[in-house]
Amino acid sequence: MKQKRLSFLCFLLIFALTVPAACPAAISENVYTKFSRRVLDVFDTEITLIGYTRTEAEYEQIFDETMAMLRRYDRIFDAYHGYDGLHNLYYVNRHAFEAPVEIPEELFDLISWCKAQWDAGLRSTNIAMGAVLSIWHEYREAGLDAPENAKLPPREALEAANGHVDFDNVILDAEKQTVFFSDPQITLDIGAVAKGWAADAAVPYLEEHMPSFLLSLGGNVYAGEPPLDGRASWAVGVQDPHPEAGGTILDIVDVNRLTVVTSGDYWRYYVVDGQRYHHIIDPETLFPSRKMLSVTILCESSVLADFLSTTLFVLSAEDGLRLIESMEGVEAFWVLADGRQQASSGMGLYLRSLKNAGGRP
Ligand code: ADP
Ligand code: MG
Repeated sequence: MKQKRLSFLCFLLIFALTVPAACPAAISENVYTKFSRRVLDVFDTEITLIGYTRTEAEYEQIFDETMAMLRRYDRIFDAYHGYDGLHNLYYVNRHAFEAPVEIPEELFDLISWCKAQWDAGLRSTNIAMGAVLSIWHEYREAGLDAPENAKLPPREALEAANGHVDFDNVILDAEKQTVFFSDPQITLDIGAVAKGWAADAAVPYLEEHMPSFLLSLGGNVYAGEPPLDGRASWAVGVQDPHPEAGGTILDIVDVNRLTVVTSGDYWRYYVVDGQRYHHIIDPETLFPSRKMLSVTILCESSVLADFLSTTLFVLSAEDGLRLIESMEGVEAFWVLADGRQQASSGMGLYLRSLKNAGGRP
């Protein structure tokens, strides 16, 4: 799969990962030890689970269980492959215009959640924009395969596709758990929210079995109870999004029982005539949004954070700030295209540079 190659570009720098994975010598009856493992073959990204358990066997079992859960979500949310007997996203996009398709609860609930945001007027992240996003996907993949021939999608093709992105044409029936496309050319792309939704699904299990944990799905991090090594909180690095920074850390957020999600223009992009074209598309211009280099969201819900990081990437700094300040329990940190930084009013509790400066953005 071509996308696999890209997964290596997709990692948020987690400060905690720099500590050795395990120290078996320290294991004794009442001592918790930190363990860490990662996989690269789920959700097309790097997934890491760090946690404190009494024994390695305990950790291994929890790790396996968590990955099995995430693998199930990965198959249900897969837009590129069908699986026997599974009405996953791939199946839905090919059949939901013919007749209502009964889908797994996991997918139905995610689509419903996204539609509720649409109905509430939050429309910069539109998962029904698959028609437009798939054109960009195709040109990006071709451009990565043969960089010397990299091209931009023709504007006419994007505009024609944009006639088929109205979420109101995705008809959900909660009783029958079905989805139906009343526009035959509409398709869903859940890339903006899938990892957040899956992370949220794994959290209750982890809270019960290994409360002190840090789960990272690419740019989506969820921090559980504090680490059991005396530190007060988990330290999650926010990558410096400037290309010349070479992936170094710009700042650190100190968090517990919170998710940290970053959307950046450095995750997935291709180059045409020396210009980078990344993967977050502004529904107004139908082109990659150029306002931000990265946006980081902190809140309790990983899917909300995932949704909002994409949304704020598209909105202006002012509109984004207004939106975040109107929401309870959500903080944000922006790196604008011109290099300026902006933080929401409560970010001073978490962002290290602001804490050091007295807590005000
Ligand atoms: P990442 O997948 O790197 O974590 P995001 O969470 O920001 O980044 O999601 C980006 C993905 O969301 C894109 O790859 C694309 O599939 C989809 N996407 C891009 N722009 C939009 C948009 N305006 N609305 C909905 N989905 C989008
Ligand atoms: Mg997102």
